[in-house]
Amino acid sequence: MNGEKIFNSIKNIEIIIKKHKDEIEKLDQEIGDGDHIFNILRGLQEILNLEEELIAKSPDLIFKQLGMKIMTTVGGSSGALFATLLIGMSKKYNSELSDLNNLSLMFFEGVESMKKRGKADIGEKTMLDVLIPVSSTLKNLKNEEDISKVAEEIIFVAKEGVISTKDIIATKGRASFLGERAKGHIDPGARSSQLAIEAICNQFINN
Ligand code: ADP
Ligand code: MG
Repeated sequence: MNGEKIFNSIKNIEIIIKKHKDEIEKLDQEIGDGDHIFNILRGLQEILNLEEELIAKSPDLIFKQLGMKIMTTVGGSSGALFATLLIGMSKKYNSELSDLNNLSLMFFEGVESMKKRGKADIGEKTMLDVLIPVSSTLKNLKNEEDISKVAEEIIFVAKEGVISTKDIIATKGRASFLGERAKGHIDPGARSSQLAIEAICNQFINN
């Protein structure tokens, strides 16, 4: 893994998020306060500004700096939580491991840090309903040689995660104030996380 791969992924994430801007905005208007898309786009812009400064650095340092930038510039719960994910990931980088092994270890750590920070787990109608299953899948498939197969499986699992948020109540975040009224609505953070994951995975699928 290198800086170029990381920044290419961020650019692809920005493209897919912008494409679904109105949809994500609407989801947070329905069960939150409507600022989720703004927070995500702000974060992406802020970290893309660091490309020149960081592209040649090692992945652990890049993830740490990206996390710190998001922590200090992006509002909302999602700002602090995505920052925590990236900083958590930076702690487990190991240059001795192959990309997939490394990535699974890093992502697992990032998601665990996010769970602790937000005191949340699977089934609470948040982005963790996408990130936890993706992390488990990545762990299970870390030795798989066919990367495109892993990418396809992860895209599938992430989409299932988004759907799983629809018919449950929220027990964390703003949507929890709505009680039963949150049912029938997809969680905005789950959808934006899934799109980001899809953008990254698409880079590994041979068409
Ligand atoms: P805010 O809720 O502060 O307005 P955003 O709108 O940017 O922040 O982000 C909302 C998203 O944050 C939700 O859709 C949900 O996925 C996620 N979220 C909220 N609280 C938590 C938590 N404790 N753990 C994980 N994700 C959370
Ligand atoms: Mg919001």
